[in-house]
Amino acid sequence: MTNAYVLVEHREGALLPATAELLTAARVLGAVTAVVVGAPGVAEPLREELASLGAAVIYGAEAADYAERVVLPEVDALHALAAQTPAPIVVAAGAHGNEIAGRLAARLASGVLTDVVEILADRSAKHSIFGDAYEVTAAVGGTSPIYTLRPGAVAAQPAPAAGAYVNFALPAASAKDVKVTKFAPAVQGSRPDLTQAKVVIAGGRGVESPENFSTLVEPLADALGGAVGATRDAVDLGYYAPQYQIGQTGVTVSPDLYIGLGISGAIQHTSGMQTAKKIVVVNNDEDAPFFQIADLGVVGDIHEITPLLIEEINKRK
Ligand SMILES: Cc1cc2nc3c(=O)[nH]c(=O)nc-3n(C[C@H](O)[C@H](O)[C@H](O)COP(=O)(O)OP(=O)(O)OC[C@H]3O[C@@H](n4cnc5c(N)ncnc54)[C@H](O)[C@@H]3O)c2cc1C
Repeated sequence: MTNAYVLVEHREGALLPATAELLTAARVLGAVTAVVVGAPGVAEPLREELASLGAAVIYGAEAADYAERVVLPEVDALHALAAQTPAPIVVAAGAHGNEIAGRLAARLASGVLTDVVEILADRSAKHSIFGDAYEVTAAVGGTSPIYTLRPGAVAAQPAPAAGAYVNFALPAASAKDVKVTKFAPAVQGSRPDLTQAKVVIAGGRGVESPENFSTLVEPLADALGGAVGATRDAVDLGYYAPQYQIGQTGVTVSPDLYIGLGISGAIQHTSGMQTAKKIVVVNNDEDAPFFQIADLGVVGDIHEITPLLIEEINKRK
């Protein structure tokens, strides 16, 4: 019995935190089927953990050419499963998940509810929109509504289930499919992935230069084992690379600790980080709107405060 399909988020043989959130959010619909799509040998070892997180059934859909086909194996697997046994489909919001959701909707002639923060038992879902200024509830009819779930919106709650494992044969690639012929991951150094990091240090226009990102923002991130993020203004001014932009048109982060340096706190930025558990803001303008959502606000110059902070952290290690 399948009441919902969840696309499992995994990397290098391990589940990503989003998976537990997806399984928790989907559980309200009934028995959840977890779908693991990946290279040969990746799915079965995740069985036990997926069962402990609430997967009643686990489909392992593996293909040797998985990495070359970008999102198509996921779309093929979920399409084949939902065409056979229709049920709602839940994937993680983000560039990857949104692409999968859109393609699936076209194939299944279904609708998509994007960036949802809660799924309800009647199959409607809540969205938090315009920088979390409004809550909207929306619904999609049909047998396979598709949802993309905002990372960090749902607190993961394990709920052990049977976790029966089934091998699922992916349809063969079509000659018309796009194939990636070369793949070189961007050099990230030793810092954690921004969207998964427990600590995020973000810099804004007030950082003033790429050099100051290297001498202030990055060293603070490294002192705390965190990731670096940036505002759109910092990105537009060329201070930091676009993939690190946090906010409405960037990535969403939900760390335990977020520190904002030289950031004013525009709603388009805060909508991408306001679920952080602790927010620390350093800004030399005491009227900066960011202080309104800060757990700890420091009115001061980042050039003075940041080195002191790094020194103090390193002293306590
Ligand atoms: C459609 C749309 C989408 C957008 N999407 C995003 C998005 O995804 N992410 C995003 O971030 N923005 C986004 N923006 C832009 C957003 O509106 C703001 O312009 C932007 O977030 C401001 O960036 P900032 O805080 O770095 O710069 P500013 O607003 O200029 O703030 C800089 C701050 O640094 C402080 N400062 C300066 N010097 C120092 C110093 N030496 N020490 C301490 N503090 C100092 C200043 O007091 C000021 O408060 C979007 C805008 C639009 C219209």
